[in-house]
Amino acid sequence: MILNARDKITKSLLSLLARTPLLYYPYYRKHFPYPSVILIENTNCCNAQCVMCPRDTLTRKRGFMEFGLFEKIMKELSGARRKPVVHLHGFGEPLLDTLLPERIKLAKACGIKHTYIVTNGSLLFAETSRKIIAAGLDSMKISFYGTDVESYHATMRGLDFNVTLQNIKDFLRIRKELKKKTPKLILQYLPQETNGARIDEFQTLWRSLPDKNGGDCLNISTLDNFGGGKSYNIVGEKIVSVCFYPWTALSVLCDGRAVTCCVDYNGVQGVGDLNCQSIEEIWNGPVLSGIRKNFGKLDYSGFPTCLSCDWVRRR
Ligand code: SF4
Ligand code: SF4
Repeated sequence: MILNARDKITKSLLSLLARTPLLYYPYYRKHFPYPSVILIENTNCCNAQCVMCPRDTLTRKRGFMEFGLFEKIMKELSGARRKPVVHLHGFGEPLLDTLLPERIKLAKACGIKHTYIVTNGSLLFAETSRKIIAAGLDSMKISFYGTDVESYHATMRGLDFNVTLQNIKDFLRIRKELKKKTPKLILQYLPQETNGARIDEFQTLWRSLPDKNGGDCLNISTLDNFGGGKSYNIVGEKIVSVCFYPWTALSVLCDGRAVTCCVDYNGVQGVGDLNCQSIEEIWNGPVLSGIRKNFGKLDYSGFPTCLSCDWVRRR
């Protein structure tokens, strides 16, 4: 299963788990020896200025993960008995990274069963499609937040509707020509004011293109507050949910620091540093153990992003 906490079904399941802490108390006291998902930010640079994205408040230095550090992470994962799903993106556009196909290849060579990216698709030119298909990418989500030139440009500012649309059509054609089933495609729409929230039109636009029998699908997502970076959702006064992240996933920023989750886009909630620690050390170490203990009691003090996070305060 690909953990994608922004998808509706995953959200509902996790919310059920999180809102019944006593029932799942034994689960909260235990964790697997390795994360089920590791999110590796290959870059935090982006070529878009999407209207709903809090990138205008991104204070971290922009850059790309050094390949040597990536190799170190993969080498450790190659020895893990239960290998995590590897996300190769973070708070940026992963296709800006010219080394992405090499990273995918290496991850697959290290025995990672599932590799995944989320992209805006604007740079998914034919050659890039060929490279990521050949590298063995397993699934790819493309954020496509418009149904025509006007709504797309008003939402995904800086990108071109026709270029991305053509890229997606070309990707599907190339994958078919190469007789490959992967990467599976998830085409995501995010209804909001600037794009008129035209879900029906989005579904009509993509009715015949993706290979639904082969596992492609459409996904309708919802707006997020990004730990206080935006304020789309009304949050309750009290924290009501246990956040599942420290039990399931580890997020690594492009400079190698590990943080509590992908929502912490400014990296203020550090849990370790993969430049000088192993995943195993961080995952089973005192910092994350303390966090699990506190989160299990709904105590998020000392974690400013969590305290503003709508995932645990949503009404
Ligand atoms: S493509 Fe993604 S990271 Fe870039 S501005 Fe849009 S939402 Fe933000
Ligand atoms: S900000 Fe905190 S509460 Fe929100 S998803 Fe991340 S770890 Fe969980």
